[in-house]
Amino acid sequence: MTQIVVADRGGGSRIVWKHRVMRCEIVAVGTELLLGQIVDTNSSWMGEHLAAAGIDSHFQTKVGDNHARIVSCLRIALERSDAVICCGGLGPTQDDITREAISEVMGVPLVRHGDIVTRIREMFVARGREMSENNARQADVPEGATIIPQVRGTAPGLVCPVQTPAGEKVIYAVPGVPYEMTEMMERIIIPDLMRRSGEVATIKSRVLRTWGIAESTLAERVAPRLDALAAPDAPPATIAFLASGMEGIKVRVTAKGADEASVLAVLDAEESELRGILGDLVFGVDDENMEVAVSKLLLARAATLGVAESVTGGLMASRLVSVAGASKWFRGGIVSYASEVKFDLLGVPEGPVVSAAAAVQMAKGVAERLGATIGLSVTGVAGPDTQDGQPVGTVFVGVSDGGTVFAEMLKMPGDRDRIRQFSTIGALDILRRHLLGIR
Ligand code: ATP
Ligand code: MG
Repeated sequence: MTQIVVADRGGGSRIVWKHRVMRCEIVAVGTELLLGQIVDTNSSWMGEHLAAAGIDSHFQTKVGDNHARIVSCLRIALERSDAVICCGGLGPTQDDITREAISEVMGVPLVRHGDIVTRIREMFVARGREMSENNARQADVPEGATIIPQVRGTAPGLVCPVQTPAGEKVIYAVPGVPYEMTEMMERIIIPDLMRRSGEVATIKSRVLRTWGIAESTLAERVAPRLDALAAPDAPPATIAFLASGMEGIKVRVTAKGADEASVLAVLDAEESELRGILGDLVFGVDDENMEVAVSKLLLARAATLGVAESVTGGLMASRLVSVAGASKWFRGGIVSYASEVKFDLLGVPEGPVVSAAAAVQMAKGVAERLGATIGLSVTGVAGPDTQDGQPVGTVFVGVSDGGTVFAEMLKMPGDRDRIRQFSTIGALDILRRHLLGIR
């Protein structure tokens, strides 16, 4: 047992937590993981979230759908860790054998739970389908284990206590489907691990979404704050970066504390520290992506938007339409891919179409054509060949807003797909900055 001391932001007093180092390792089950048919993103996700919760995780293992080898992996893991999270192999088919392997390690039989069978049957009925008998296997639970009720899929997760010479340990089993796994991790497993380690059980994250600088530059700017958080009397928070393509670069703050109010207070304080460092690079919080940020600004001005897309080929319009209530401010889009369409439909003068002048006219043209207050355009070179003497990755973004018209040039890294994604968020960010008056 060690003790950790955490500063209390409120009155300067200190809370002392009894804290036991919890070592938790991950076993990912699935032959397709070994064959390279799917990438083990589950283990990466779990590793990141265990670290954020302050739980040590020193090993990650991948094992195929083979009973003896899963049992052996679990036994090795239990020898050197306090807890094991096992993902995959909880499905209904014959190759889903995680339940059997765990019951062997526990030395107990599997017991079929009638109420779980009923729940699974009800889920099938709700989707207008009939449950096959195989699905009842998902209601098999090793004796002595508790279930993690399923919210998103059909298979419940499991919390399986295991008696070992070194005391009671635990194996958690979660489905392989990432969307089901993450939900069970956040709702049950991480809080349970924290409770077992004697840590307080409240942990929350907040994501600040940024766009406009490279991840390395971002990390450099935030480094002093990371150092400050490493100090012994720092607030109980960690910061992680996640480059997420068209979603921007996410800065995730995770805080823990005795109760929700104290955790939220830490998150609020860290958010304002980070906003102080990053300023208007932050465009949104949590689920607020770039198109949502833009939509709010358009609504506030009662303006409407039309887009003319070349290199992004409809991606921008598609993202904008994904915002609920888009009809209030989105007029539509024109995919003016061929040069002639830019000339004939949008009034771009004949000549190079990857240019600032073409982008400006595309924006003006689409605003006029669609009767929108504001026109936004993207024209560029996604490769593999250069165009109009411009290298691959050159993109011009045009904005037309009443008397204000301008174009900006962006240089995008990566292959065709990434250039199209980055152009989409990059163009929307230029519009966001224009609407905020921070160009
Ligand atoms: P199901 O009920 O769907 O059969 P399951 O618990 O049996 O779930 P698996 O059959 O192992 O899980 O995997 C289901 C799907 O989840 C896989 O096809 C794959 O798409 C995804 N998946 C499984 N394991 C991982 C992993 N480690 N990382 C990322 N994705 C995974
Ligand atoms: Mg399966």
